[in-house]
Amino acid sequence: MTHRTLRVAAGVMMIATLAYGLPSPAPARTQTAAIPAHPWMDERASAEVRTQRLLSAMTLDDELRLVFSYFSEDAPWKHYHRLVGGIPHSAGYVPGNPRLGIPALTEMDAGLGVAGQPGSHAHLATALPSGIATAATWDPKLAFAAGRMIGSEARDYGFNVMLAGGLDLVRDPRGGRTFEYAGEDPWLSGTMVAAQVRGIQSNHIISTVKHFAFNDQETDRTSLDAEIDPLAGRMSDLLGFEFAIEKAHPGAVMCSYNHVNGKHSCENSWLLDTVLKGSWGYRGFVMSDWGATHSTVEAANAGLDQESGWPFDDQPYFGAALEKAVIDGAVTRSRLNDMAGRVLYSMFANGLFDYPVRPGGHIDFVADGAVSRADAEAGMVLLKNAEGALPLAPSLRSIGVIGSHADAGVLAGGGSSRVHPPEGFTAYDKSVPSGPLAYMRSSPLEALSARTRAHLSYDDGTDIKRAAHLAAHSEVAIVFAHEWSAEGMDDTMRLDGDQDALIAAVAKANPHTVVVLETGGPVSMPWLPAVQAVLEAWYPGSDGGEAIARVLTGEVDPSGHLPLTFPRSLQQLPRAVLDGYGKPGREAAAVEVNYNIEGAAVGYKWFDRRHFTPLFPFGYGLSYTRFASSDLSAHADARGIAVHFQVRNVGARAGAYVAQIYVGGPTSAQWPAPRRLGAFEKVDLRPGEARQVSLQVDPRLLAVHAKRGDGWKISAGEYRVILARDEATPIAAVSVQLQAQRLPEMPPVR
Ligand code: BGC
Repeated sequence: MTHRTLRVAAGVMMIATLAYGLPSPAPARTQTAAIPAHPWMDERASAEVRTQRLLSAMTLDDELRLVFSYFSEDAPWKHYHRLVGGIPHSAGYVPGNPRLGIPALTEMDAGLGVAGQPGSHAHLATALPSGIATAATWDPKLAFAAGRMIGSEARDYGFNVMLAGGLDLVRDPRGGRTFEYAGEDPWLSGTMVAAQVRGIQSNHIISTVKHFAFNDQETDRTSLDAEIDPLAGRMSDLLGFEFAIEKAHPGAVMCSYNHVNGKHSCENSWLLDTVLKGSWGYRGFVMSDWGATHSTVEAANAGLDQESGWPFDDQPYFGAALEKAVIDGAVTRSRLNDMAGRVLYSMFANGLFDYPVRPGGHIDFVADGAVSRADAEAGMVLLKNAEGALPLAPSLRSIGVIGSHADAGVLAGGGSSRVHPPEGFTAYDKSVPSGPLAYMRSSPLEALSARTRAHLSYDDGTDIKRAAHLAAHSEVAIVFAHEWSAEGMDDTMRLDGDQDALIAAVAKANPHTVVVLETGGPVSMPWLPAVQAVLEAWYPGSDGGEAIARVLTGEVDPSGHLPLTFPRSLQQLPRAVLDGYGKPGREAAAVEVNYNIEGAAVGYKWFDRRHFTPLFPFGYGLSYTRFASSDLSAHADARGIAVHFQVRNVGARAGAYVAQIYVGGPTSAQWPAPRRLGAFEKVDLRPGEARQVSLQVDPRLLAVHAKRGDGWKISAGEYRVILARDEATPIAAVSVQLQAQRLPEMPPVR
């Protein structure tokens, strides 16, 4: 194997089995065994019909096997050995059923690529930039390509379920999984995650969306109780899921660790039954997060279809206990039918029967790395660029590169989404919580030196005086700075350690200072006025060093825009201190997190409602070229509001314009906040090129969710349609008169 191509070994190691009074696993069968000709294997029939045919041939035991998944890695702290037949070092395994020709479910994290369970290096894979970076591209085509690429690597390893599609709204930028998610707006998150999920599922495998719902902070994540008015919930976090589910039809929805309004998410009938399966007509299955199932009868009757990752839960709730509950009638046989049927439906609908996965594919890391790099480049957000400091001038003779291991690689976020890239990691700061900090071996310094004739010197930034000295003796100083984020812990919205002081000292020594941020989300920037340029590179993935260098040197134009607001201070947030923060070990008692403070006014909507000026608004991002737009017009139609305008690249370089349309309702409509993102599109433009853009505003973005049963309601009145550079910078606005209207709930049709 070279570092850039990999043939995945076919077949898996067999380890010992376990027995916990659980449904006995089916004997292992190879993925290549011939599938018997059963009536449900007729591809001409619909997924629904095939599911019914198969269900009618199933015994109680067959159905029970489908609703229980096993962790596919040893868990010595639970005296658990991975099951025979599962893929080692992976998240989950549901044994197949050879008698009926049901393939095994082989489940693997996550949204940034094929991840590895901690300590394992078994699955080398291409790492995408963080989810927030993909969202910052505002380009669903790129998100689709990214999803298709990681899904194909998953398939090559023999996985047919990807635990991807993280889309909890960022209610607090300090949330430790902000880097995995897609920002603070339901339309942007829902659209971008849907595109990625469609890309993954285009490989005939299943993707989840997760974590359903309101898993918006990591502090006390398994015990916190998210309090939210149900209608505000429908207009915020749940609306993001609603859009993603109807656009992408993910095979599974993963319910989250936390409680919502007093009930665990995985036994919350309002979330799972009323909203997801009722109002939205969701046909796939609900799987629990690993360790998020807490009961048998209550969970099954509330809408949980599959318990995940045994032995993460206290008990095998959907094992022998579920069998007993069905025999006793506490869970009806028809509900168990529905549970198993939902799993089967998703398997049929996504081609798991017709295109069985076969480990042993050939991964082309060069081609896949290019997909990751394109995503990273398009998601980088140029936050400041005074006096055209960037792109770096070809005439530069010396550049001082400082900090954040820029000589070695680029930072990756931590937790179950972390991918092991083919070149491996360099690990630092092993003592940090949830660490060590892992840097993917894609060195910005090397990539820069391949692109500039300037002499490059590197200083690791640990000695501020020494770094300032290098800056003073360089024509330009580039400081790389980071904030570490990981699943299981929240951030502080500050750069780690004394990097603020480092940047301030470097900027004092050299006014031509450029800062490159590798952060999971927003950070405060006390040094901002003193530096010339700031590039937010997020965690840029396995080819991130190249991507950074290409943007800094102008090989590509920065075209990312913020998918979340960068606040000026913690005081601008709905909760200056995160609920439960700094009080570890309170898992036993539920910590209440009152999301009714902001309700549906999440992110920029909160800032608008409170008249706060952020450091950088939602939608913000600079380019090396300039764009002009004109001829905005809008009219009401049956699908909401249709918007048209023209955009032109009036600069000298090629670039990509992110057209953003915001809508504002009449006062009588009582919106939680004055404006909402209504539509967007990214348009590539050569110098001088003009394009006519037509967009559609979804009617739900013009409505409020009225009391239960009433659904969405549009009030009569005058609505403003705003073409804007970012959420806070309108370019042009027109008005549209709308009639009062009630919108039906919109079940996704397949
Ligand atoms: C995470 C999920 C992940 C699962 C399996 C959990 O801790 O919250 O996002 O899919 O583990 O690894």
